[in-house]
Amino acid sequence: MRIVRVMRIVVLGAGFGGLELSSVLSDEFGDALDLVLVDRADGFVFGFSKLDVMFGRIPPAAARHRYADLVKPGVRFVRAEILSLDPVARRVVTDAGTFDADVLVVALGADYDPAATPGLIDGGHEFYSVAGAAAAGDALSAFAGGEVVIGVTSTPFKCPPAPSETALLVHDLLVARGIRTGSGITLVMPFGVPIPPSPDASRAILAAFAERDIRFAPDRPVSALVPHRRVVLLSDGTELPYDLFLGIPVHRVPAVVEAAGMAEDGWIPVDSLTLETRFPGVYAIGDVTSVGTPKAGVFAEGQAKVVAARIAARLRDGTSAEAYDGRGICYMEFGAGQVARIDVTFLKGQPPHGTFDTPTEDATADKERFGTSRVARWFGPGAHAG
Ligand SMILES: Cc1cc2nc3c(=O)[nH]c(=O)nc-3n(C[C@H](O)[C@H](O)[C@H](O)COP(=O)(O)OP(=O)(O)OC[C@H]3O[C@@H](n4cnc5c(N)ncnc54)[C@H](O)[C@@H]3O)c2cc1C
Repeated sequence: MRIVRVMRIVVLGAGFGGLELSSVLSDEFGDALDLVLVDRADGFVFGFSKLDVMFGRIPPAAARHRYADLVKPGVRFVRAEILSLDPVARRVVTDAGTFDADVLVVALGADYDPAATPGLIDGGHEFYSVAGAAAAGDALSAFAGGEVVIGVTSTPFKCPPAPSETALLVHDLLVARGIRTGSGITLVMPFGVPIPPSPDASRAILAAFAERDIRFAPDRPVSALVPHRRVVLLSDGTELPYDLFLGIPVHRVPAVVEAAGMAEDGWIPVDSLTLETRFPGVYAIGDVTSVGTPKAGVFAEGQAKVVAARIAARLRDGTSAEAYDGRGICYMEFGAGQVARIDVTFLKGQPPHGTFDTPTEDATADKERFGTSRVARWFGPGAHAG
């Protein structure tokens, strides 16, 4: 497709949203595109790969898809730390230079703040980063039995099914190691049910917990750990004894976004249909926003497609009516080699609605395809992790 209006596009963050956006525009415009994609990391890691790392299925290095392998015509990947961004001037300062944009897309995800939960760093493990998942995996390998508490420390947090998946996979691991009898597993969630937008999924998860004797502690987050007493404190003062704590850390908007004055109530507000911020020519997609969908890659990807269509229309000197539909499909591990499919749509002003496909072994292949198809699309058909 021919470009009519030449524009400098700068995409901040090569995660789920940034990679999808860059790929769609590259596929359409090829070398004619002028897109700079900035990320400080040396590779992309799927969120679900952190569970693979924690449960010892893959080493940490195998979770990473290197940006050095990213060959997309019209896309220049710059590995750099973003130091500041000015959404009015659309200027980005990095440790590898300054970039001025006609269109700026902020796709910087959510950062973690484990220090915000007293006792978590000294007395427990977060498993939402690759390093944290690897350390949690070592702790699980060394675990000789006792009380395991899996706990959410605040909302919002990425991938609401992940804590429930973790509880079910910890059960399998302890059974396989012959230490499930005599051990306890408790999941602490800030919600009344495991996945509030999907009542069918929540019912199935609670039934699976009941079958496996996994305790569910609803409606309160974890507020602290007291390592010397081996107790987890919940926000209402309840104390739970623990021997191993696997936690979901406090999530925050990246500091550079906060400093830019783009966040309100913690996250970047956007138009829920167009993903435009209040700054002209600046979009925000994915976990960094408060768009109203859960923080998950599928939603970041759906938002990226809409922004790509809108940028593409501008490059052709036209307009786009493409609007975000709030739909996402995710695959949830139920343990025992089974995977369920949850399909939910979030539309502003309406309750979420969707479908739930009960766990099967066959859906494991669908989950696998979910990852491999994206790696092929973003990095090329021959790309592999490592
Ligand atoms: C355990 C776990 C399981 C998950 N399972 C699923 C799942 O099954 N399905 C699903 O859809 N989602 C899942 N997720 C959630 C998913 O990983 C995220 O929601 C998704 O990656 C968000 O995409 P994003 O583009 O908004 O941000 P990200 O993918 O997080 O990308 C943000 C990028 O910005 C970069 N960055 C940030 N700050 C700077 C800076 N100052 N300078 C330079 N670069 C910077 C980061 O390096 C990063 O690469 C899971 C998450 C976890 C933790």
